Amino acid sequence: MTQFDTIIRNARMVDGTGSPWRYADVAVKDGVIVKIGALTGEDAKPVINGEGLYLTPGFVDIHTHADREVESMPAMENYLRQGVTSLLGGNCGFSMFPISEHLGKLNTLPLGINYGVLVGHGSLRAVAMGLDMRAPSDKELKAMSHLAGQAMEEGAFGMSLGLYYAPGSFAEEPEVTAVSSAIAAKGGVITIHIRDESDYNVGLIGALREAIAIAEKSNVAVQISHLKCMGKATWGKAAEALALIDSARQRGLDVTFDQYPYEASGTGFTGAIIPRWAQDGGLEALAARLSDPQVMPRIRAEMLENIDRRGGAHTLVVALHGPNPSLQGKNMQEVGVALGMEPVDAAIAMQLAGGASLVSFNMKEEDIVTIMRHPGGMVVSDGGLVSPGQGMPHPRYYGTFPRFLSHYVRDMGLMTMEEGVRRMTSAPAHRVGMWDRGLIAPGMAADLLLINYEELRDNSTFQEPHAYNSGIHTVIINGKVALDSTGRLIQGAGRVLYGPAAKGGM
Ligand SMILES: [Zn+2]
Repeated sequence: MTQFDTIIRNARMVDGTGSPWRYADVAVKDGVIVKIGALTGEDAKPVINGEGLYLTPGFVDIHTHADREVESMPAMENYLRQGVTSLLGGNCGFSMFPISEHLGKLNTLPLGINYGVLVGHGSLRAVAMGLDMRAPSDKELKAMSHLAGQAMEEGAFGMSLGLYYAPGSFAEEPEVTAVSSAIAAKGGVITIHIRDESDYNVGLIGALREAIAIAEKSNVAVQISHLKCMGKATWGKAAEALALIDSARQRGLDVTFDQYPYEASGTGFTGAIIPRWAQDGGLEALAARLSDPQVMPRIRAEMLENIDRRGGAHTLVVALHGPNPSLQGKNMQEVGVALGMEPVDAAIAMQLAGGASLVSFNMKEEDIVTIMRHPGGMVVSDGGLVSPGQGMPHPRYYGTFPRFLSHYVRDMGLMTMEEGVRRMTSAPAHRVGMWDRGLIAPGMAADLLLINYEELRDNSTFQEPHAYNSGIHTVIINGKVALDSTGRLIQGAGRVLYGPAAKGGM
């Protein structure tokens, strides 16, 4: 009998706090880190030699949309292969519902990595009052707040707001404050896809003020999701946005943010270019309006403005369009040519055929770097689960974490490696209340990575997205090797993670 299950020797240990690496052996027992230091003479099965490698905590992605596919793709391979050991689904206002049913199902499946959820405000709203563009009645608002508290008790880590998307965009301050307060009362965090990252309505700065006001009025921790300066009217405003967040923090408001390391966002026609009023009542109501010669011209005119706001039809690339996969990978200018119509009319036709997901090139590298230099930021993918070869997904689905660490940290030198690791481990884990993950320390869950830092590279590109990364050597989840040094996956090391108010799920 050996005292430990696994020992990792000889690696440079980066513990996730941001402190400089040091040599230390790490021992694991029953899925938990139990001892750190010189463990000479100790034996275990396996003993992993980390010579020449860095040992870090597993990456934690608190902003994904993996909830959509996780029940059919529980291996979550595109996350595991970038070193992500825990993620949260249910962002941008949309989640599975009810939470207990979703997590109950996942408890019966072999999860590749650890999985937790946020409950989406838009999803709660849809349950409580449908998809209409109006304020809730008192009764509906009470129902929504009750459902929010219940979702927390069922295991959610908090709630996501999608104030940019219908139906979240129909919500005004009294509603958002009331529902957020119900989440705060259970110790949850609020993540916000803010109302405007560009100049659609209140503008980036106005939308940040709204997010900060939610933190203040609901007395809740607010995470601003995927902070960016989208579209030409907003380019150059990164410093102003960060100053606003800094001043909120100085006033004692718990506001932080995250970011994905790419110059393009991922969206759909309904999010990117179709006005929200046209989505009052849901997608069927939208289709009826798009087919109504009285209403369609007004929608079309606003769509033209929105295409221009984002940088033009050539900056919108079709990622996935089931009804006509030959359009995938083409930008809307090219789609227009292929279909023999104006790009805006092609967009309307594609929406009526079932919609599409898009990659939208709308950011400037200077803003990305300015935001990244701020120590309050965290790294997220904003991606979801993909099958190799399917569609033309945003490369963030495959390469977010290796890209941040290799391109921005190592090659551009924006921060130390240890600080880069902190932004992907302890900072996000503790932000959402995963207190037993994100650090290498005795008592923490044994979610660990061995990285070949010199070879680390994201290989997924906008042109050829379906590619895994280089330099992710070994991934250990809950003490089990989930990806070994030969690239072999071992299923089922992950588990469902429960938020702070969960009853009986742990
Ligand atoms: Zn979002």
